[in-house]
Amino acid sequence: MTQKTLLCVVAHPDDETFGAGGTLIHAAAQGVKVVTACATRGEAGEIMERSDATPETLAAVREGEYRKAGQIMGVSESLLLGYRDSGMAGTPDNDDPNAFIQQPEERVVQDIVDVMERHRPDVVLTMDEGGGYGHPDHIFASKCALAAFEKLQAGGGWAPKKFYYFAFPRSRMRDLWERLQAEDPDSEMAQIDVEAIGVPDEQITLSVEIPQHEEQLRKAFAAHVSQQSPLDRMPDDIAAVFLREEFYIRVHPQPAVLGDEASLFDGI
Ligand SMILES: [Zn+2]
Repeated sequence: MTQKTLLCVVAHPDDETFGAGGTLIHAAAQGVKVVTACATRGEAGEIMERSDATPETLAAVREGEYRKAGQIMGVSESLLLGYRDSGMAGTPDNDDPNAFIQQPEERVVQDIVDVMERHRPDVVLTMDEGGGYGHPDHIFASKCALAAFEKLQAGGGWAPKKFYYFAFPRSRMRDLWERLQAEDPDSEMAQIDVEAIGVPDEQITLSVEIPQHEEQLRKAFAAHVSQQSPLDRMPDDIAAVFLREEFYIRVHPQPAVLGDEASLFDGI
């Protein structure tokens, strides 16, 4: 039996950990070769006080955090595509000529096709089309990853077999938010617009339960020292629920309905 390969395409170093980390750990623990491809080094991100990174060193610091989290999760290769972080929507970083979102789509798609041809993943994951919370780099990475998958599918030669978005169901987001509101109504997380985050529940086609990997996943989250973690302000019992399960939308093959498969590798 040949080894299976999983590729996760993201925009910033930490998206793979915060979005699909439990799934990556689980796959690696089962002998799957796990590869991540990150479009940027996250140099436009904010810097948490606990980090000694500066705006000048942030790219290198985040690259180190990305590789460390990858090692903790059992990732075989933590690739960087070398684009520049475009920053949050509406910030001046958006207009930098090197910004990821300023690059021609064909070029980015070809980069991802090259990664796919080199590593031959059976299954590809990326962020949902809305980018989780609308970050322009997330949306662009998701779009280009899907276009790369579809280009290979249409090419008639080798192609990955399955393609998924990782996503957070809105009802789950609302539950967490209501509990955070009750515990600490003044916290930053309690101020977010929950209806603008995550995806409608009915879009989810697969949930991956990974309670056995909670400790390893917490360590991977903690590797991203310079960045705000979803766990930073979460009470422990809420965090335990958050870390226990990850959610997917199968984009290929279609049709996809909730419960029609038990894992990302069904049928492979
Ligand atoms: Zn991101």
